[in-house]
Amino acid sequence: MAAPFSLYLHVPYCLHKCPYCDFNTYALSQIPEQEYVTALLSELDGVSREPQWQGRSVQTIYFGGGTPSLFHPTSIARIIGAISRAFPLDPLAEVSLEANPGSIDNEVAELLSDAGVNRISLGAQSFQSHVLETLGRIHSADQAVMAYEMLRAAGFTNVSLDLMYGVPKQTLEDLREDLNMIRTLAPEHVSAYGLTIEKGTPFYQAVKSGKMKLPSEGLVLEMMECLQEYLPQQGYAWYEISNYAQAGRQARHNLAYWNRNDYLGLGAGSHSYYVTDFGKSAKRYSNYALPNRYIEEANACGNAASWHDELSQKDLMFEFFFLGLRKMQGVTLASFRDEFGIGVEEVYGNVLEVLVDQDLIKKTQARIHLTEKGFLLADSVIGNFSEVDFEPLKPVHPTSRLTQ
Ligand code: SF4
Repeated sequence: MAAPFSLYLHVPYCLHKCPYCDFNTYALSQIPEQEYVTALLSELDGVSREPQWQGRSVQTIYFGGGTPSLFHPTSIARIIGAISRAFPLDPLAEVSLEANPGSIDNEVAELLSDAGVNRISLGAQSFQSHVLETLGRIHSADQAVMAYEMLRAAGFTNVSLDLMYGVPKQTLEDLREDLNMIRTLAPEHVSAYGLTIEKGTPFYQAVKSGKMKLPSEGLVLEMMECLQEYLPQQGYAWYEISNYAQAGRQARHNLAYWNRNDYLGLGAGSHSYYVTDFGKSAKRYSNYALPNRYIEEANACGNAASWHDELSQKDLMFEFFFLGLRKMQGVTLASFRDEFGIGVEEVYGNVLEVLVDQDLIKKTQARIHLTEKGFLLADSVIGNFSEVDFEPLKPVHPTSRLTQ
């Protein structure tokens, strides 16, 4: 029996495009909800007959975006119903939905719960008005608190709050105030993301032209340290670069990505990934990103993939570290050997030696994980695992790379 997989559904619409956002989202005043849901259902119907997904059970569902909470909960219920008819749905499946605080009210919260959503990721970002204003968010701090309380009143017992740090003009005190609010609200999970300036966004232009000044590296480091110190004191284990959770409340869907489990992405621009050849290689594909093109393709053929890729064993080795080292617990030496039939030392001996010497990673007899210093420089540390002189054991096609 094939292993269960995770299901991601992308809703590519927002009411307003935040100036730092480079996600595949489009700000529309009139969202073509019914048309898009119909396309999602056509795609679901089509891909559920494909051999790599057919008959396998779904362990997590994640509605991401964009702003999935802009869709009426009856649409979410319709989609979850269709998923449970297309695949065996694990009765304990984690069903998450990203919500913008401005799009939650009591009725929506209750209907989402009735629809089968059992986890909400609420995009609070900050509880300081000036930070929300800089970020161009359309909700206020009060709205975020009210949305949170409405979710609780509707019976949600698994809520994650997003925070952002490293925002222009944000002070350490602002972040401390946000963390005090976390203590008051006591969500089960906190995601804390450093602001990144992405090419093509208004923030990128503003920084490039000198109109916007980013906080100093030192201040950003202090903010990271503040999060890493404060949240564990409040009972949140730091389990991934940007994520903290109360016991047993880690995000199962995201863990599936970091553990490189198979996932199926539905919707505009979604990515899918599954291993083949008994784990010796993997396939990845992504859908048309433009919503109208996606809708057209999904309705016409029940499949909207525009790009396919096959990962070689060398790519998989890099991904083993690229994703596995994001987790606090890192990766095990035994799992590398089980998967690739070769020891980590034989492939990455030189890289490991340098990174251990620099106190960026720690290697025990069983595990390899980032050190505290390594976590602060995670992207560049992990990048070292791509620079290795290694002949693949089983060469397949050359690939390009992307991340979900
Ligand atoms: S609400 Fe989220 S997805 Fe939409 S534009 Fe803002 S950051 Fe991007």
